[in-house]
Amino acid sequence: MIAVDPRSAAVCESVALTKPERRYGSEVIVDLLKHFEIPYTTLNLGASYRGLHDSLVNYGGNVMPELMLCQHEEIAVGMAHGFAKASVWPMAAIVRDVVGLLHSCVAIYYACVDRAPGPRMSLDSYIRAAPKAELHLHLEGSIRPHTVLALVERNDVAFPYTTVEQLREWFRFRDFGHFIEVYGAVSPCLRTREDYELIAYELAEELARQNVRYAEVGFSPAFHTRMGVADATYLSGLARARARARRELGVEFSWIFDLGRAWTGGEVETQRWATFTTDLAIEARSEGVVALGLGGPEAGHPPEPFAGLFERGRAAGLHSAPHAGEHAGPSSIWGALNALGAERIAHGVRSVEDTRLVEELATRHIALDVAPRSNVCLGVYRSLAEHPLTDLHAAGVQITINTDDPPLFGTSLNDEVALLADPFGLEVTAIDEILLNGVRHSFLSTQAKQRLELSYRAELEALKRSHLIGQVF
Ligand SMILES: [Zn+2]
Repeated sequence: MIAVDPRSAAVCESVALTKPERRYGSEVIVDLLKHFEIPYTTLNLGASYRGLHDSLVNYGGNVMPELMLCQHEEIAVGMAHGFAKASVWPMAAIVRDVVGLLHSCVAIYYACVDRAPGPRMSLDSYIRAAPKAELHLHLEGSIRPHTVLALVERNDVAFPYTTVEQLREWFRFRDFGHFIEVYGAVSPCLRTREDYELIAYELAEELARQNVRYAEVGFSPAFHTRMGVADATYLSGLARARARARRELGVEFSWIFDLGRAWTGGEVETQRWATFTTDLAIEARSEGVVALGLGGPEAGHPPEPFAGLFERGRAAGLHSAPHAGEHAGPSSIWGALNALGAERIAHGVRSVEDTRLVEELATRHIALDVAPRSNVCLGVYRSLAEHPLTDLHAAGVQITINTDDPPLFGTSLNDEVALLADPFGLEVTAIDEILLNGVRHSFLSTQAKQRLELSYRAELEALKRSHLIGQVF
């Protein structure tokens, strides 16, 4: 709990809260922002949750209240999430009424000023505050280590590790076989609707913390059905988490259902599960499934055998976003384009080995959903210095920036975006374009994409004014 800062009493008087109990969140915040001469051009008074949330994120306090409660729940939730997205160090605040809320705001503000002078004026803080979309990450690869252990305990699953440290060490990447092993071992920990709701909602919390407002999240139904979980169980868990993420966190999810390239049991089994996944994805379109993906071991398993299923999916209104050009070369990407009608490619980085393919991707505006640390961890490139992101970008290929499986690769979307500046050396304008590509190449409706792009652009401009003072673009 934050102790009331003695300076806040004077501030309370100076913002003239004559009847504080009749004043609500936005007004109080506006008075505070005025008092401290903090620019609040993006504050939206019309929508209290969103307005509070955005203004708090933009004003860039380096604080993270772990808990905020007050009489007006929406205000507390908006504040907590807003602060959480601008977090550097943790703080707990318990606010029971509007006056308490005000005292806390003041205390938090002074704590910011005292402890982190000028934190808003850097490219790093700009990147962290920037609104983002993520198009390539997998739900099963996003589960937090401590959540895996909690699931192991509540479902009484046999599991080789008992501490978060052991699990982190095990998560640390070794090779592609190990990666599949981790995936295979984590999936059986999920049994109930609540389990699926928990992991999807926790992912939304993590995305909200990083200002990711929209995500297309990969999910592999066959993994779970093969483990004996009914599709109604995981579908309802995902649906509940999606609704709560939208309502409570302002994060919008869509799903990409991934077909597996190779299941044990050979081609017949693989096709059987691919057919199951396609049927389920078509059926679950109303639950936010927007596309078919294709994952699993790429080398030796080309995309062509899945052409018929992707055709069926596309005819039913699903988009096509297979993995390709990661552990196999350009022919795999050509296959994804020609046989699967790919509109985006997950990874696709090895297209750089074929000039004609690079031209094709650039001309047709096929985006590559790139995840640089994943590529280095999984041995596609030995180091970020060898990664072709800047070559592809310079050749006019549309790039989006992503995490793939953040806990497994020890990364976050903020960290991946930061790579665009260092070591990739892109200018802010190029970073902005890559961030906006996450919206433009999403599978939202044209209208929704335009609306989101406009709001992202306005927010990026406002953030430049507050975070990158003195820099010219
Ligand atoms: Zn992936």
